[in-house]
Amino acid sequence: MRPVLLVDVDGPLNPYAAKPHRRPQGYRTHRLTTPRWEAAERRRLSEWGLPLKAVKPLRVWLNPGHGPALAALPFDLVWATTWEEEANAFLAPLLGLPTLPFLSWPQPRPQREDGVFWKTPEIVAWARGRPFAWVDDQITEADRGWVHAHHQGRALLHRIDPKVGMTAADFARLRDWASLT
Ligand SMILES: [Mg+2]
Repeated sequence: MRPVLLVDVDGPLNPYAAKPHRRPQGYRTHRLTTPRWEAAERRRLSEWGLPLKAVKPLRVWLNPGHGPALAALPFDLVWATTWEEEANAFLAPLLGLPTLPFLSWPQPRPQREDGVFWKTPEIVAWARGRPFAWVDDQITEADRGWVHAHHQGRALLHRIDPKVGMTAADFARLRDWASLT
């Protein structure tokens, strides 16, 4: 069985932490108003007591080369992003990816005191021992330790710099890891 690649969006595919007025090379700007984004913005405006005017779209940078590059990897791709089903509706077509399975997250997000990212136990439970790689900008050593202690199969937790997004070196790392499976 091929390993799974769990793909986060904000950070790996959308390098949101790059300088606001300097779109990284190879990326295109998209302005999206998704139902989740609109609901979150309306909640924020009403919490701050601000008038509910038209919600500004969310700016997303995407590299059209990332879809084919992900599809060419020897993995089964799965979204592991808070975009959930909206990754399929809004992002997959822009990247040239098919509809992919996605993880649904608990709401509200679990609070943890131990520095482990709330996604990590969800991913391990979902994987049920199947080998997986995971790209995310919020991975730390705490997550690697937690996965090591709680996941039976192989796992690669590969952090992506959210100022840069996924690079050729990241794709090479994933290919190398899969070839050892
Ligand atoms: Mg992220």
